[in-house]
Amino acid sequence: MARARTYADRVNIIKMVKVDDKWPFAPVVERKGKIVRDHVLVNGKDEHHPEGRYYLEWYEGGKKRRQPIAMFEEAVPAARTKFLELQARKAGILVALPAQPAAVAETIGVEIPAPDEGRLKVAAAVDSYMDFIQKQRSLRTFRTYRVALRNYFINCCKRTYLDEVTREDLLKFSNFLFDRGLEARSVKDKLITIATFLKWHGGRKLLERNDWPRYTETIRPVYETEEIQAMLRHATPVEAILIKFFLASGFRNREARFTVWHDIDFRNSLARVTAKPLWKFSPKNHEERAIPLPESMMELLVQLKEERKAAAADLVFPNTLGKPDTLHIEIIKKVAWRAKLNCGQCVSERGFKCAEGPYCERVFLHKFRHTFATQHLRDGIDIVTLKDWLGHRDIQSTMVYLKGIRSKDALAKVNAGEVASLTSFVA
Ligand SMILES: [Zn+2]
Repeated sequence: MARARTYADRVNIIKMVKVDDKWPFAPVVERKGKIVRDHVLVNGKDEHHPEGRYYLEWYEGGKKRRQPIAMFEEAVPAARTKFLELQARKAGILVALPAQPAAVAETIGVEIPAPDEGRLKVAAAVDSYMDFIQKQRSLRTFRTYRVALRNYFINCCKRTYLDEVTREDLLKFSNFLFDRGLEARSVKDKLITIATFLKWHGGRKLLERNDWPRYTETIRPVYETEEIQAMLRHATPVEAILIKFFLASGFRNREARFTVWHDIDFRNSLARVTAKPLWKFSPKNHEERAIPLPESMMELLVQLKEERKAAAADLVFPNTLGKPDTLHIEIIKKVAWRAKLNCGQCVSERGFKCAEGPYCERVFLHKFRHTFATQHLRDGIDIVTLKDWLGHRDIQSTMVYLKGIRSKDALAKVNAGEVASLTSFVA
């Protein structure tokens, strides 16, 4: 095997992969001088392993050293840099310092000691936890945790062992995220993921109460009645039904995406959120629920179902191939653009200006859910009922919507009150 040649002056790229519930290191497969992504040699055989993590491996002073790499794309450049670094050190240009302070550990790479020491390494701890999440939680949760742990935490935390992680590391992690432009809410979510991960491995709480990022709960933005009317005037009949359904159900984006006709209870005028194992969709908080729909909405749905001659298992709002439609958001943005609702000021992450096309950041699907909640509260639906309709786990989440109505009710009282009458007093 070409890979097994002498390590002298050589930096190898290897991958830690999962084989029979263990995480051994395996040499990567090369073809035509290039590393094949996610292919490694296990017992001499080429196997596909998308899981796991790439590492550099080299010998230094007779000791084997390894260093994790964040992404596949970085493997070759990192190996080259490491090689040059080793050459430079050998030539006396770079002097190796005693491996103690963190800064030094960073430059010379993390030494992986013999596995019999019984201490859990951070990288291995992340691997086993992600393995657990992948098996026990939804794909969505898995992806969210993967970003927090693999993309961010592993890159920021330079500790070798999990038991070395301190409160300072988490505070550093928090700053690291803020430096990358993340919002306070997002930073907090990621810190919660790390705390959950540490707890899963039997760790104790590291952060103190004041360490958690604070953010103000903003009043949820809603569509004004005139805005929805304008959208409906510029929508095709099917687009109009989609808009009305988002508004009438208060469904989350994915809940609407995976609604099938079977979920529409025509007799009781209800829409249900139910699990769809076929698409790996399960309701948030694992709770199925039913929401009453207005009769006018039911009539539109009856018509749509008849026109399509749809079967019970068919999606209510599929894409043109009859599959779950991930582009509902684009439909709404286009309708809003036609209705001239764009604010004209925002620029999307990819540089699209909402003054020039259907890219307004103020137009998004979840805003229909905010509108649903706010309007129902204004119309006198009690908060406990609304909590059930929204499928919130706790009432705190639902209470956020009270802010939106208090301000409106308060204005009516202000106008009817003594302060208002005195300000209109003319001497
Ligand atoms: Zn805009």
